[in-house]
Amino acid sequence: MNTAGDITSPLMLAHKSMYEGKVAVSHMLGERENVRNDKLMPKIIYSAYEVASVGLTEDQAEDEGYDCAVGVVSFMSNPKAMDDGEDEGFVRLVADRRTGNILGCHIVGPHAGELIHQVVHLMKANIRTDFLASSTFSHPSLSESIVQCAMEVHYGPIGWVKRG
Ligand SMILES: Cc1cc2nc3c(=O)[nH]c(=O)nc-3n(C[C@H](O)[C@H](O)[C@H](O)COP(=O)(O)OP(=O)(O)OC[C@H]3O[C@@H](n4cnc5c(N)ncnc54)[C@H](O)[C@@H]3O)c2cc1C
Repeated sequence: MNTAGDITSPLMLAHKSMYEGKVAVSHMLGERENVRNDKLMPKIIYSAYEVASVGLTEDQAEDEGYDCAVGVVSFMSNPKAMDDGEDEGFVRLVADRRTGNILGCHIVGPHAGELIHQVVHLMKANIRTDFLASSTFSHPSLSESIVQCAMEVHYGPIGWVKRG
């Protein structure tokens, strides 16, 4: 589709407009393999607690017929967040239980708007949660919470924070 920008949908974001512009121009140049994927659009709220998301929520995924596996890790159990004195918030990873594909991620807390981009590209590359669960992230880092979510998807709850 060779349209771009706020005029195309209610989701009015600068990076969405730029992405759609890039896809539209590549199509005009005959590069049809650059296909738009609206599910990979990160959405960030730059409030006192940053809120960031990409892809489907658990409810949306279930509405689409997925059997979901969810990993949730609080920043209260993340040593970097504790060291920085910013340990409020969480990472929530939604995956397809059957395939291990990541369907969405929702982060509230420190640097949420930066952390979410890791998951955007994992989803774009179809990286599954078993791959992520066996990957190494440095310690202490906020990013560890993302890999721990993938481990939760595989091995069940590993943190001490109660799930809703
Ligand atoms: C105050 C504010 C803060 C924002 N902050 C963020 C943010 O932090 N992050 C984020 O992702 N998004 C943010 N946005 C949204 C973001 O700016 C838009 O989603 C994005 O600019 C849309 O790009 P666009 O190319 O569709 O439209 P625009 O950037 O609005 O560009 C449209 C252009 O068309 C021109 N134009 C209009 N009519 C005509 C005409 N008849 N003939 C010729 N030219 C015309 C206009 O002058 C304008 O230059 C913010 C928006 C506002 C208003």
